[in-house]
Amino acid sequence: MTLNVLLRQGQVALLALGLMGFGMAAVQAEDESLDRPIEKVLEPIQLTDRVHYFYGSLENRNPTNLGFTNNTGFVVTDEGVVLIDSGPSYQVAQRMEKAIAEVTDQPITHVISVGSQDHRWLGNGYFLQRGAELVALERTVRTQAEFGERHVESLGRQVGEEAMVGTLPVPSRNPIDADEYTLTVGGVDFELIYAGDAHFPGDIMVHLPGEDVVFTGDIVYTERMLGIHPWSNPVEKLEAFRHLESIDPEIVVPGHGRATDMAEARQDTGDYLELVVREVKAGIEDWESLGEVVDRLEDLEQFRHLRHYDDWHRPNVNRTYLFIEGNM
Ligand SMILES: [Zn+2]
Repeated sequence: MTLNVLLRQGQVALLALGLMGFGMAAVQAEDESLDRPIEKVLEPIQLTDRVHYFYGSLENRNPTNLGFTNNTGFVVTDEGVVLIDSGPSYQVAQRMEKAIAEVTDQPITHVISVGSQDHRWLGNGYFLQRGAELVALERTVRTQAEFGERHVESLGRQVGEEAMVGTLPVPSRNPIDADEYTLTVGGVDFELIYAGDAHFPGDIMVHLPGEDVVFTGDIVYTERMLGIHPWSNPVEKLEAFRHLESIDPEIVVPGHGRATDMAEARQDTGDYLELVVREVKAGIEDWESLGEVVDRLEDLEQFRHLRHYDDWHRPNVNRTYLFIEGNM
């Protein structure tokens, strides 16, 4: 981008900047991969013949990314498109549909909810209007109903009220009363796997065995530090990660961060969760105070490269401590 601007400003400027100009272009490109505006996020990335995903911005929710700071996906079957999560709002959902129409003529027939955080499902209302079926486990729907109103409000504060016009929280009216469920559409199997109260109560993963892909929702973060909230269960999150390892898919589409393989998922999420849970447990058994454990684990060199480390890591250890202490 910067390079193009420089070229437009004339060869002289480019030559004058020389190597420095190229350096800036590289830095700029890197920043863009992190805070992509909504237009960039809405450029679908193909993973297999059938599977595509929208690579969400790694920045916090803002008026530029409209809250699309997570990944969503879509799968082109022989009988319609199955969407994995509906995005942060009614308006973004509409734009998602347009972007998908550039890839296939098939209509969107199903929307699977992987979780209940704002940007996973607040586009549901739009797709329901367009005739799609909303597919979700009962546990997920229960959390969506509980948090929905609050999430619409807080997202509006971050992306601007205008961007949220038309958005209502619309959970599935026919939730599935099971922990595991296989949806088959147009010859493609989608295994919905309950992942515990990992990030939000009722998170799931979606495994496409025929494609060797798992959409992990917030079980896996790559490139950025994962978040543990007061309502998260870091122990079940780790168990869900181990379940994912037993599936061992070729392609992992994390909740946040670019699509990748199991090795990177383990490095950025599995190893982190394992270390934090293990060290916090050991600290509690040794009668270390919350403050002592948070200080002892403050500097984890191998995870420093993860974006938002400084914002999230200490609270993560803090909340893991409170969770384990309260559930021992
Ligand atoms: Zn998330």
